Amino acid sequence: MRKKQFKAESKRLLDLVINSIYTHREIFLRELISNASDAIDKIYYTALTDDSIQFNKEDYYITLSVDKEKRQLTISDSGIGMTKEELEENLGIIARSGSLKFKEENEGKDGVDIIGQFGVGFYSAFLVADTVIVRSKAFGSEFAYEWKSQGIDGYTVTPCEKDSVGSDILITLKENIEDENFDEYLEEYRLRSIVKKYSDFIRYPIKMEITRSELKEGTESEYEDVTKEETINSMVPIWRKNKNELTEEDYQNFYVEKRFGFDQPVRTIHSSIDGNISYNAVLFIPGKTPYDFYTREYEKGLELYSRGVMIMEKCGDLLPDYFSFVKGVVDSEDLSLNISREVLQHDRQLKLIAKNIKTKIKSELIKFMKSDREKYEIFYESFGRQLKYGIYSEFGANKEFLQDLLLFSSSDEKKLVSLKEYVERMKEDQKYIYYAAGQSIERLEKMPQTEMVLDKGFEILYFTEEVDEFAIQTMRAFNEKEFKSVSANDLGLVSEDEEKVEESAENEAIFTSMMEHLSNKVKAVRASKRLKTHPVCLTSEGEVSIEMEKILNAMPSDQEVKAEKILEININHEIFQTVQKAYQDDPEKFALYTDVLYQQALLIEGLPIEDPVAFTNQICKIMK
Ligand code: ADP
Repeated sequence: MRKKQFKAESKRLLDLVINSIYTHREIFLRELISNASDAIDKIYYTALTDDSIQFNKEDYYITLSVDKEKRQLTISDSGIGMTKEELEENLGIIARSGSLKFKEENEGKDGVDIIGQFGVGFYSAFLVADTVIVRSKAFGSEFAYEWKSQGIDGYTVTPCEKDSVGSDILITLKENIEDENFDEYLEEYRLRSIVKKYSDFIRYPIKMEITRSELKEGTESEYEDVTKEETINSMVPIWRKNKNELTEEDYQNFYVEKRFGFDQPVRTIHSSIDGNISYNAVLFIPGKTPYDFYTREYEKGLELYSRGVMIMEKCGDLLPDYFSFVKGVVDSEDLSLNISREVLQHDRQLKLIAKNIKTKIKSELIKFMKSDREKYEIFYESFGRQLKYGIYSEFGANKEFLQDLLLFSSSDEKKLVSLKEYVERMKEDQKYIYYAAGQSIERLEKMPQTEMVLDKGFEILYFTEEVDEFAIQTMRAFNEKEFKSVSANDLGLVSEDEEKVEESAENEAIFTSMMEHLSNKVKAVRASKRLKTHPVCLTSEGEVSIEMEKILNAMPSDQEVKAEKILEININHEIFQTVQKAYQDDPEKFALYTDVLYQQALLIEGLPIEDPVAFTNQICKIMK
């Protein structure tokens, strides 16, 4: 019997599959079961238009059987089958032109992606097989044929015996090699778990003989192994079920079964959309931050199905980065099973689904915030940072979309407040949304710069996360109210308070002298309009605040960032009189006081002082 050659393209793909060092060889079963399910679909549609056949659901199923001696696994279906010509045409040529194109574009790279993301259809059998035999009898045909191949050097097609319509795919497993044991695909447990993982939701029953230990009849403690055929898939996906029929527990089980996490999700979103685009989705917001969430290793994405068949384990295009914490599945009738990742990225339907999902997640989060604030705050603890990165990234393109989801600590309440809540209770004469940035709430509460603002009865938002001030600078304003740092030069406190600080020529001379002494460490020394009980503080001018200077300099980079620092002196504080006196009588003391005040201001800001030993010596000198 002369061997026929595979078409050139197919040969290359086959070569890739056979020689791949791919670790997820198990996906071959998903591919073959999905082909079997398609073949049953086809006979089902034929039955719809042909009165001569009756479609009894019970007659249509897929069977897995194992012959351990022959090291053979068989996948049988009662689908439409293939004629001799179809065997040659369908199995001799690679049908998935998309995946081949992808392969060409990625020539030289490992084959991992192409196999893992889309599968390679029927050829994936060669991930585990030495020999593949397909025995098939087509619907309406009297004869059956056998297609056989041992890989790259071609295939044969010969007549064979087969009674029923449908196909049997017989796979003789590869020899075990050092670190790979192909025998695992003969194990009942392994096969069941692969089916559960990838094909649980196939519409038709997947049957397999299962051996269980059962009590021997007529005895009380004697057990025997009993083998029975069982259906090993559940057939109905959770996302196709009616919400009303499902319990919290069902969702929880699904969440764990899918290995989205082992925690309890704080929120489940189950939606069925039917319109321009139709899809079903079950989405989860995890209860805990995944351990790798804020690392590079974390990969966002939703599981993507097309009509119940998984086509991608993590479709990143379905989620914007700021919602990367969301886990779940999406199943759409509008996506083709054969779509390649390249094409998928630009797929209009997929984009529509993604947009829909994004809006849905946001509205659910808003609802969540309103209905269960406590739990929302738990969520926010875990993922709030990601939302703030979302505001800051893409030049603020998403700030309006995300701003209502934000929460911050506040001087008014010991809990988190939203921007809306802040603005609603702003005082009549309050122009700005005030904030203070620092390491911790405890430190911010004692920050001298906040004195005057708090004294006016204005609320201050406390920023303790690195991203906070960056995000707020991107936003600039919320509901037309601008944000203002308590360290900003002009606080906009329209009142006598600010005017109380009179400018005098004598003070100006003192400040100039202080500045000269501090040389280029500060940009200016000024009389403070914000201090009440504290003698000094540092503030900044320009784009970079002191807090931002700290954050930016903590990041790996050669460039040192410097905020333009202003040393503010409280001229109503008694210490200032001491300074005035020293200025007149004792230049040495004046220099000493200036140094000490400056370093105190640094310490209050949480900035390092250059020479701590010198500083303590200076304090001792004063104490003497
Ligand atoms: P795809 O499923 O993406 O078309 P495959 O390489 O998996 O690509 O299969 C090629 C073709 O072979 C299928 O389109 C189908 O027509 C046919 N085929 C594969 N398996 C079966 C089967 N079990 N029953 C009937 N036809 C099949």
